[in-house]
Amino acid sequence: MSNGLVNTRDQQFILFEQLGIEKLFATEKFKDFSKDDALMMQNEAEKMAVNVILPTYIEGDKEGCHLKDGKVSTPKIFKDAFKKFKDGGWMCPMKSPDVGGQGMPIVMNTAYLEMFAAANIAFIMYSGLTVGAAGLIEKFGTEDQKNKYIYKMNAGEWCGTMCLTEPGAGTDVGALKTTAKRLPDGTYSITGTKCFISAGDHDLAPNIIHPVLARIEGDPPGTRGISIFIVSKFRVKEDGSLGELNDVHTGNVEHKMGLKGNATCTLNFGDEGKCVGELLGKEREGMKVMFHMINEARLEVGMQGLGHASAAYEHAVQYAKERIQGIPVWEMKNPDAKPVSIIEHPDVRRDLMWMKSYVEGIRTMNYFVGYCMDMAETAITNEEKEKWNGFVELLTPLCKAFSSDRGFDVCNKAIDIYGGYGYCQEYPVEQYLRDCKIASIYEGTNGIQSLDLVGRKLAQRKGANMMAMMGEIGGTIARAKAFEDLKKYAGKLEESFNALVDLTMTLASLGKSSNFLVPILYASPFLDIFGDVLMGHFLMQAACIAEEKLNAIYKEAGAEESKGKQRGLIHENTDVAFYSGKVASAKFFATEILPTVKGRCEVIKAGDKIALEIADESFAI
Ligand SMILES: Cc1cc2nc3c(=O)[nH]c(=O)nc-3n(C[C@H](O)[C@H](O)[C@H](O)COP(=O)(O)OP(=O)(O)OC[C@H]3O[C@@H](n4cnc5c(N)ncnc54)[C@H](O)[C@@H]3O)c2cc1C
Repeated sequence: MSNGLVNTRDQQFILFEQLGIEKLFATEKFKDFSKDDALMMQNEAEKMAVNVILPTYIEGDKEGCHLKDGKVSTPKIFKDAFKKFKDGGWMCPMKSPDVGGQGMPIVMNTAYLEMFAAANIAFIMYSGLTVGAAGLIEKFGTEDQKNKYIYKMNAGEWCGTMCLTEPGAGTDVGALKTTAKRLPDGTYSITGTKCFISAGDHDLAPNIIHPVLARIEGDPPGTRGISIFIVSKFRVKEDGSLGELNDVHTGNVEHKMGLKGNATCTLNFGDEGKCVGELLGKEREGMKVMFHMINEARLEVGMQGLGHASAAYEHAVQYAKERIQGIPVWEMKNPDAKPVSIIEHPDVRRDLMWMKSYVEGIRTMNYFVGYCMDMAETAITNEEKEKWNGFVELLTPLCKAFSSDRGFDVCNKAIDIYGGYGYCQEYPVEQYLRDCKIASIYEGTNGIQSLDLVGRKLAQRKGANMMAMMGEIGGTIARAKAFEDLKKYAGKLEESFNALVDLTMTLASLGKSSNFLVPILYASPFLDIFGDVLMGHFLMQAACIAEEKLNAIYKEAGAEESKGKQRGLIHENTDVAFYSGKVASAKFFATEILPTVKGRCEVIKAGDKIALEIADESFAI
């Protein structure tokens, strides 16, 4: 029975059968964990998601956040849920016990986070930003700063944000105007306005810690002159208790398309000249420090895309099974034909397959990156560490951009499956679409992610990260070819893979030529192509495992020779239904999506520059 959010069976398949995370439990770092623990915690996470967080979803959207008399209120239902969430130990289970976590592998937390994100991302961002900000202090702070802030933050007693954006400095963070002036006691006086700050002010905790980007007076322009400061909403006294307000005022709470339960604020620092900040790390190294949080946040935004897509898909399947409408097309001429569930209509089935395969592919990609982070942490040799970190670096823009873009598309298709009801607020799918949209914008727009991929990540470590990923895909193709049932589809993956390799080399040489604008112009379509080939790889890898499992089950049941008997097992044995579904996802993707890759590569290779050459005036008169 679906929980309406995430397919927990698929989560288990990816964690244990596809990635094999038990390998981690054999390492010193994770020796206290076992498969049973992971399953037990998955069960607990599911209860937290379904019983505590999900009830905040629609209510939080309806009530929203409000600014009154200088104070920001969150939806009433959030208060108790937030308390239960932090008391349940879900703030930062993947952090070390030394700082209040449980030392859990990141990949396990990734799976649990998917459920929380699917239940209500607007709610979960309050804790996500808090732990992210605490992570910055843990990594770059002084002992004094660590003691003062991180334990309270990781416990959810105080919350956190990330303050980069200003009205004139969005993508171009280096254009910021917020200033920091050295004070005699070694602290800094902060003055400036930050806008669009998620969880910027609220009533879920008595204090909020803002990591704020600012330029120390006299420092150079652009990103190289930026430093980062810890600005506490309230001054913190010697004994750790809270003092007076630190001259941080909320100017506005944005009225948004979605994500209404999260307070997106304009924050004014130092209107009265009394806002004090502490330097975090070294002067002029603000971007280096902040990027630590930005990279983590990008992966979390990918999880937002996945969470919404997953919930939208689970709802759409359920609805398609229940909604009776129309007779089957093959009964057109039968006057006695009975109406059927819409899942019987070919067009609906095709859409569901499209959604299913993307959700499963995106889920695997995001979990894989979590797993790589754990593997890097536990690697013995430097070479191994670099390999796993390399995958994380390479795939971060894909997790962020591809998951959010395709996640949005899945939500869009879910609305189509609901028909007119999908457009109405009685059903949650319209909210999934509204809430999902922001994921392609914040943490660096998806356009910027693709530039990061093409301009930086492909060539990182002299291309070794990309080569290693190509090696993985090549391995999957070879493995799939050994299965009679998958051979044909493995061939389609191979064709798209070869086209991607060829395109990557073409872009590399164009980047060094007078045509260097072509890779920049086509960075977004390149990211989409790469993402699709990765989906093909992850789905085919899953199909190989599923084939092996199916063959074993058929052998046991004596159904090896008879297709009829095998099909019969689908209705009797949930494993057969599940594994057959995994094979179907891979075959569908290889048939429907992968054959488009070659043509899309050719478009880029042709290097057409019409979009660059057209005059600004010709776009619209
Ligand atoms: C709900 C919400 C929550 C947010 N939360 C936070 C937060 O917690 N903290 C925070 O600091 N910020 C936050 N933001 C801000 C968000 O990160 C920015 O909106 C985003 O970085 C884009 O900046 P911008 O809106 O100024 O767009 P712009 O920078 O003006 O970009 C507009 C368009 O131009 C493109 N563009 C701009 N420059 C380039 C370039 N050099 N090359 C190619 N294309 C380019 C962009 O891709 C985009 O498509 C939030 C925003 C929203 C809406």
